[in-house]
Amino acid sequence: MSISLHGIGLGGGIAIGKAYILDKDLDDATQYTLEDSEIAAEVTRFEQAVKDTRKELEYLRGTIPSGAPAELGAFLSLNIMMLSDSQISQAPIELIKQESCNAEWAIKLQADYLSRQFEEMEDEYLKERKADVVQVLERIFKNLEGNQFDWNDEGKLERGILVTRDLSPADLVQFKESNFAGFITDAGSLTSHTAIIGRNLDIPSVVGASNARQLVRDEETIIIDGIQGVVIINPDNLVLNEYKKLKKEWQESRQKLRLIRKVEAITQDGIEIELLANIEVHEDVEEVKYNNAKGIGLFRSEFLFLSRENHLASEDEQFDAYYKVVKEMKKKVVTIRTADLGADKNPLWNAAHGESENPALGLTGIRLSLAEQGFFRAQLRAILRASIYGKIQIMFPMISSVWELKQAINQLDHAKDELRDENIPFDENIKIGAMIEIPAAAIAIKSILNVVDFISIGTNDLIQYVLAIDRNDESVSYLYDPLHPAVLELVSNVIRSANKANIPVSICGEMAGNVKLTRLLLGLGLRKFSMYSSNILSVKNVILNSNIEEITPLVNKILRTDSREKTYELLDKLNEDLELL
Ligand code: PEP
Ligand code: MG
Repeated sequence: MSISLHGIGLGGGIAIGKAYILDKDLDDATQYTLEDSEIAAEVTRFEQAVKDTRKELEYLRGTIPSGAPAELGAFLSLNIMMLSDSQISQAPIELIKQESCNAEWAIKLQADYLSRQFEEMEDEYLKERKADVVQVLERIFKNLEGNQFDWNDEGKLERGILVTRDLSPADLVQFKESNFAGFITDAGSLTSHTAIIGRNLDIPSVVGASNARQLVRDEETIIIDGIQGVVIINPDNLVLNEYKKLKKEWQESRQKLRLIRKVEAITQDGIEIELLANIEVHEDVEEVKYNNAKGIGLFRSEFLFLSRENHLASEDEQFDAYYKVVKEMKKKVVTIRTADLGADKNPLWNAAHGESENPALGLTGIRLSLAEQGFFRAQLRAILRASIYGKIQIMFPMISSVWELKQAINQLDHAKDELRDENIPFDENIKIGAMIEIPAAAIAIKSILNVVDFISIGTNDLIQYVLAIDRNDESVSYLYDPLHPAVLELVSNVIRSANKANIPVSICGEMAGNVKLTRLLLGLGLRKFSMYSSNILSVKNVILNSNIEEITPLVNKILRTDSREKTYELLDKLNEDLELL
């Protein structure tokens, strides 16, 4: 019987192969009681396993394959550091002594204890770090058992698919060098480190496919669709052939896209389009450069703060982070958005706010920055200080009115005055922009255009607030519709007003990276798109194959339509002749 599972696709295309199940993990630990005389030897056995793990991690750190993501080295160093933490290297020893139990069981008890501690944390980002700690304990466990997996057990593993509970970033190094064609894990979430690194490795993979290990049997045929996040166990011939076709098409489309990396994004009627990248951490810059983005249209700076217990990343730490990005981008534009914290991106120090009845309508984005002036001033100073090393623009999130925007600019002016007094140089002509993502700002756009150098439409939030649907609530996700007439009208008005006022406008929400919407947005007058680097070439392909003059009448027709079916029908017609890669 064929079974389908859904998880989080980490990309990498499609893989088809035989399952290889790797299932020795902490859940398999058994308990046995030791005689007093056996305890000292058990402690030594545990200590040896910690030493073996350290050696192994150090070896991995020294042999990271070329092409592996830059953050891998940092994660391995973090794992090595964790081995010195008493919660990992000492607590299990105490448990062996107190409980007179074997080392495997002590590790399991400690992993369960630490997992509970992490679970209780309010902060989603920190909660996710549970996986990092458990992965290190699991590695010690495997060394104890003497059953580390032989990644290069050739032969039957040839192009097989690994099915396992979890893979740590360290496992991924070995995975990359192995014969496996792809992997599936039971555990994992969108922001786990495994997911972040996995996404960069470009291997067909799905994480968070709960129960995969229970449902798959060794040697069964499996399809992984890393793009859609789908796993099909034991597919029938029809499905298998369909996926073989899809796999071939995907590979061909990737090859075609690679060819346009260096090509300028110019439409068939000669209009140049600017393709920018969204980044969250400094390590994302590598992919930005690979995809040849014109610059960074959105640097979500709040990721610097999410794991902190107090307000700071200090000004200097922030400066370092911005400096690194701007240096690497050379003279290309880097748009740093000031911290967009609150709502679903809640730092520890703001935990009380997390209890607000309606966090998405609460103290978020610029509101939080204006309420926390010391915090805001430090960030503004750090950005200004980095501005002399390249071409930084500064952007304020969640602006709801021109007077709120003026308050933010006022704070920026104070920060500039401080730096002048201290003789610290900064770019005196630094450009200032606003995110247009609250409906009020979109409606009152003309007043905002009077005080900024550029704007960027945050369609993710704009859609949420216009349609009154929580973007994180699955039960209303069917209502989340970028093509709703109200959304289209607002987006279109904002673009038109900005173009008329000669103020550069971009979109940096997910709409910008959706190839099905590229022509629509071109027809609305958009000339700057900012998106995850991985979407840039696909969007460029649409641009190269579009003639704006020809598509505009159909786009106008979409704007005048109020039937959902008709809108989607017209959109299909708009993209009819396109090969979406
Ligand atoms: C948006 O709201 O569209 C946006 C780009 O910002 P974020 O997704 O970070 O809220
Ligand atoms: Mg937003």
